Amino acid sequence: MEIKEYVKQQKEALIKEISELKVTPSFVIMQVNDDPASNAYIKGKIKDANEVGIQVELKKFPIDISEADLLKEIEKVNNDSRIHGLIVQMPLPKHINEEKVKLAVSPKKDIDGFHPLSSINPCTPKGIIDYLKSEHTDFVGKNAVVIGRSNIVGKPLAHLLLKENCNVTILHSKTKREDMERYIANADIIAIAIGRCEFLDDSFSYKPTATIVDVGINRTEEGLKGDAKRGLPVALQTPVPGGVGLLTRLSLLKNLLEAYHHEIKD
Ligand code: NAD
Repeated sequence: MEIKEYVKQQKEALIKEISELKVTPSFVIMQVNDDPASNAYIKGKIKDANEVGIQVELKKFPIDISEADLLKEIEKVNNDSRIHGLIVQMPLPKHINEEKVKLAVSPKKDIDGFHPLSSINPCTPKGIIDYLKSEHTDFVGKNAVVIGRSNIVGKPLAHLLLKENCNVTILHSKTKREDMERYIANADIIAIAIGRCEFLDDSFSYKPTATIVDVGINRTEEGLKGDAKRGLPVALQTPVPGGVGLLTRLSLLKNLLEAYHHEIKD
């Protein structure tokens, strides 16, 4: 099923599920920047939440808020049982330590899945695995190649693919071209998250049965493009736009519900 249709159906199921809950699920977004990309992401998150009946509050702080004051604000939300999730929008200004902030968010409310003790998975990798499962992708004993090793996509995605019993290889900026060609030619699942426009192209060989998951978002004069050239000779290739970005947004809503159910159980 196309990702757009899949996301639409999943959202309809969420609307039904949320409408039957006694307490409305809610989360807070904290923003300490005036970055246009962050503004756009936040707008998207609020729109998605409202669409399915989740309450969301944006707390925008002045750019010169001290680290200590921001940590206090996080603690307040951590201790507020009426709020089930908390996102601190990155990037933060230089005087605030991002790692410290990520660790300050309660693992139970960490719907971004950034906290090492959080049982919640980061949104992009989770969205990818959920979608591939809905497509009945065969994971067991299959060769999965993840290109890119960031903490928010590459590494957690490799971890989730391993959990599904794939043979996982991570390739990165120091991987030699000849090795990359060899791994890609043998791969059943290729996920790319490097931010290099159309890096995967016709110069590589692919298994015709392979799946390419294109995470990359590259802004070009011709609009948004992925890390893979469109129309590669494989069985399934996720589009950009209208692909992994939508799956990531969907995962945030699902993660909030997961946090909600934890909170209610406690
Ligand atoms: P990043 O930008 O933090 O790091 C890039 C990674 O790519 C590094 O691990 C590096 O080793 C690797 N890399 C760079 N050049 C390479 C090359 N030539 N060959 C092999 N590996 C190379 O990574 P990120 O934050 O995961 O973002 C990657 C891309 O994914 C960006 O385009 C970003 O916008 C996009 N992204 C999309 C979503 C979504 O929801 N669609 C979510 C997160 C990130």
